[in-house]
Amino acid sequence: MFDELIKELRRLDGQEVSVSIPSDADGYFDRECPRAACQFKFKLHEDDWHEKVRDEEVHCPFCGHTAHANAWRTQEQFKHAKKTALARVDHRINGAMRRDADQWNRHQARNSFIDITMKVDSRPLHLPLPPAAVEPMQLKITCPECECRYAVIGAAFFCPACGHNAADLVFSQTLAGIRKVLSSLADIKATIRDRDTAATATRLWTENGLQNAVTAFQRFAEALYSKLPSSQPPRRNAFQNLNDGSALWHSATGKHYNACLSSAELKALSRYFQQRHLLAHTQGIVDADYINRTGDTDYRIGQRIVVHETTVHDCLALIEKLATGMASDIPPTRESES
Ligand SMILES: [Zn+2]
Ligand SMILES: [Zn+2]
Repeated sequence: MFDELIKELRRLDGQEVSVSIPSDADGYFDRECPRAACQFKFKLHEDDWHEKVRDEEVHCPFCGHTAHANAWRTQEQFKHAKKTALARVDHRINGAMRRDADQWNRHQARNSFIDITMKVDSRPLHLPLPPAAVEPMQLKITCPECECRYAVIGAAFFCPACGHNAADLVFSQTLAGIRKVLSSLADIKATIRDRDTAATATRLWTENGLQNAVTAFQRFAEALYSKLPSSQPPRRNAFQNLNDGSALWHSATGKHYNACLSSAELKALSRYFQQRHLLAHTQGIVDADYINRTGDTDYRIGQRIVVHETTVHDCLALIEKLATGMASDIPPTRESES
């Protein structure tokens, strides 16, 4: 009696349902990192998804997690695929049951005492509409290694297609991110009702800006240094210290930092680097080393440094100038776009 239904169920077993994923206005479609702790949302240009990304391995631009290409659906796309699959299965089962019913009814004996007929309502196929693509993301990146185009919100560290970590890209993104946070501080502060929390948050964000700026420079300088042909392995954290870094750079390129910055600029930058050191190691309390190294007469030992937004902006500008000068000593590579 249910021959058609059984046959249809067998046919359905193991079948895959393909669903379309719409792209946004710029031709990018949405992806999501499958690592539970990450779930970073990003976009990939649809042409590059097909032509540059390998099925076996896709890299999360934020955390670097790798997984097979079919693991990167967003939650919305996953829900849509499930609904589409269920709608198709429902439609085919309904069709099979109607065919069974027709056969049953045809084989009923006419003029018999009892007349049993079977009726299965016909249900049309209603496929759900695919979820609209999330609006385009502003930060568009082209990988300098494989030219894969992708887009993110905030920051990205790895190319989804080849996994490349572009030091200059990370550096410029970090600096831009710190500047954006600084310029929004007043707005962010206004949204926090509690005055103590608002004051602490503002101070922490400003001081973090200084610390992140120095760390970003350190990472970038290390990456540049590693590209120099005859460089010796640097001492750990050498680029956290301006004198050590300058000496190391000179040993590999013949140029000190003073080829990029004036002595007044170097003195200011040295003070910011030492202030970062205090924030990292003494909670900002001035010690004798700080006074000796910077000659800063604004503070006495035991006082706490005050980091203003203008300090961080000034530090960022000097770091950028120094890094640009250092990058010009490196053999040129293909530039990344943004
Ligand atoms: Zn991730
Ligand atoms: Zn790449």
